[in-house]
Amino acid sequence: MNQIYTRLINREHPLPEDYIPDNLVDIGLPFDAPPHDPKRLLEEKTALAAAELISRSRREGLNICCVSGYRSYQRQKELFTASTYVAPPGTSEHQSGLALDVSCPGVRMELTEAFAETSEGLWLTRHAPLYGFILRYPSGKESITQIPYEPWHFRYVTKPLATYLSLTGMTLEEYHLLQKENAESG
Ligand SMILES: [Zn+2]
Repeated sequence: MNQIYTRLINREHPLPEDYIPDNLVDIGLPFDAPPHDPKRLLEEKTALAAAELISRSRREGLNICCVSGYRSYQRQKELFTASTYVAPPGTSEHQSGLALDVSCPGVRMELTEAFAETSEGLWLTRHAPLYGFILRYPSGKESITQIPYEPWHFRYVTKPLATYLSLTGMTLEEYHLLQKENAESG
């Protein structure tokens, strides 16, 4: 399996400045962004999995809207310079093309904690793992992820890993720590 999908990206494990996924695509997902905006781009498998997830949600009458996908190192640097609440360049999962921020009309497409209580937010927490996505920064795990609760930020990690993490309740940080401990104990 391509290791990029399960890769841990955070402050201790940043992406190189020159890391740009070579398979970024815009497959026409419902984005709250104009055509050709780079934030519409996602890594290809991530985009296809998101399309399946969103089309299932549409069949159930929900209105999930994509807000932000890929973000370059340079763009992250600009945002970080403008706001201390933004992840430093290299440490954002959005640079990998594997992360997707979503919202819905019920909260005016905003990235807000209130999204968690919408039908779309509640549905996603249950169904996202079936399509290979995890809620990357859950409530109650802030001391481990070092990131405040973000009910809108989903990360593609493949179906097997997303299922495993959702069944065990582990974050990606805890999973990688366990892998390391297992490797060390032989
Ligand atoms: Zn995000």
